[in-house]
Amino acid sequence: MSDNIENNKESVNFIQKIINEDLANGTYGSSVHTRFPPEPNGYLHIGHAKSICLNYGLAKKNNGIFNLRFDDTNPIKEDDSFVESIIKDVKWLCPDWDERIFYASDYFDKMYKYAIELINKGLAFVDDLSADEIREYRGTLTEPGKESPYRNRSIEENLKLFEEMKNGLYSNGEKVLRAKIDMKSPNINMRDPVIYRILHESHHNTGDKWCIYPMYDYAHPLEDAIEGITHSVCTLEFEDHRPFYDWLLSNIDEFKDAPTKQIEFAKLFLTKTMMGKRYLKKMVEEGYVEGWDDPRMPTVAGYRRRGYTPESINNFCESIGVSKAQSVVDIAMLEYAIRDDLSQKAPRTMAVLDPIKLIITNYPEDKVEYVEAGNNPDNKEMGSRMIPFCREIYIEREDFMENPPKKYFRLFPGNEVRLRNAYFVKCEDFIKDDDGNVIEVHCTYDPETKSGTGFTGRKVKGTLHWVSAKHCIDAEVRLYDYMMEDDNYDKSNFLEKLNQNSKIVLKNCKVEPSIKEHNIGERFQFLRHGYFIIDEDTTKDNLIFNRIVSLKSSYKK
Ligand code: ATP
Ligand code: MG
Repeated sequence: MSDNIENNKESVNFIQKIINEDLANGTYGSSVHTRFPPEPNGYLHIGHAKSICLNYGLAKKNNGIFNLRFDDTNPIKEDDSFVESIIKDVKWLCPDWDERIFYASDYFDKMYKYAIELINKGLAFVDDLSADEIREYRGTLTEPGKESPYRNRSIEENLKLFEEMKNGLYSNGEKVLRAKIDMKSPNINMRDPVIYRILHESHHNTGDKWCIYPMYDYAHPLEDAIEGITHSVCTLEFEDHRPFYDWLLSNIDEFKDAPTKQIEFAKLFLTKTMMGKRYLKKMVEEGYVEGWDDPRMPTVAGYRRRGYTPESINNFCESIGVSKAQSVVDIAMLEYAIRDDLSQKAPRTMAVLDPIKLIITNYPEDKVEYVEAGNNPDNKEMGSRMIPFCREIYIEREDFMENPPKKYFRLFPGNEVRLRNAYFVKCEDFIKDDDGNVIEVHCTYDPETKSGTGFTGRKVKGTLHWVSAKHCIDAEVRLYDYMMEDDNYDKSNFLEKLNQNSKIVLKNCKVEPSIKEHNIGERFQFLRHGYFIIDEDTTKDNLIFNRIVSLKSSYKK
């Protein structure tokens, strides 16, 4: 985007430019301090990951500090399980983070004190109007608002009433504390916004200590300022709230000299992916998915379970850049990032997802030989392994056809192919069951054609992957597809537009015996099928893989 410029070959985003200016001017001395401020009311999604990578990255690049701060000012929707999941996700995305974790609710005392400072300065008042009346008085985008009849209460009266609010003398909604700014402001957020409300609710952190709670717009700038945040990076919907942010900090003595700077950027949206926390919550609660970490979910927990690496998500976030222009990123870019990361790291193995037996009729019954297979052609350092080969093997059902179309180079009667890392085999015959399904393919092999011996006698066009029938391991494989059918949905109908084939479970897969040694969380490339991870549902008797991503840029149906 136009906000990115080339600077010493490294792209400097517009936020870094602001930081550079502040460093040059000494606005905050030499410090750069960012934060990620989630509300603990759901799991983090890939949009949050972008914000984390951005804020953490800015701190890191500038020798600064990064805080995770829970914006837990709304006692109704918050939950400790969300707090735990968020900490886990941030640690996973930022492995060398020093775990600076803060809670807005720890600042409730200070926030109360700053409210009293505002009252004492004649900048806040207790209002008795109801929520509906406040809305009516607020005016519209085209009409100015009207001042509340309670606006001119004396400082003493305001102090007394606010204290009584805190002490629980009033019921929910009976009174509020409002900033006293300008009911005629063209910006509605400046029309005497409510800064405290009465809410007789227990809080996950402060329990029953408080029955008044600060509003988000009041709490957020104070949280930033209390922590010494220099650059408060948030998304564009807060742009209109910035004047109040600045107003507030400039009116609190402790913060007015070097107030935190709010900087907005455009949210990340992904094709074929519904992102809002509220909607993801609905999918979990109503059973459209199997929990927040379902591998189809665009949550950080979902991507982790699916097999994405933190590096791939960081690289993705870095590659899409940061801008003020709203756009939707093609999910193919995210898939590119994980393929790119795993191509070096994941060992290649052979797995047959839809097996059919191939019998090599001229191979001795009891013979087993071990053939050598490279573990990663893109990363030779990963070495090689020995794979058992014998008379009966499994190949993919789709790799044999009785009546092949043109340009089909795999097995069909009379055709010869290469078995990867082993021999050439030629199809001589096949057997069908009573329903006409092919159940066995019979071949002969040519001992001269062994892989690695430099055989050049003739060429074949097809190469098949296979596993030894006697040695292979049974596995379950879960194939995942996009969450949404397409991009034509909105918040009201997205549940009807969910991709009904987003999860396919294959129960009868056969994988190489070498996988027996491996653990939950290990990743492989199954030749031709994509990248896979051993899922945490795996038990001693049931080996389960998730497909992380296919090898090509569109999913194979
Ligand atoms: P949602 O819109 O999914 O409900 P939210 O913005 O309400 O998310 P918060 O917990 O308030 O969720 O967000 C924490 C931080 O993450 C905020 O600074 C917010 O701006 C940022 N954020 C949320 N969604 C995105 C996104 N899609 N892209 C980038 N940053 C995001
Ligand atoms: Mg929010």
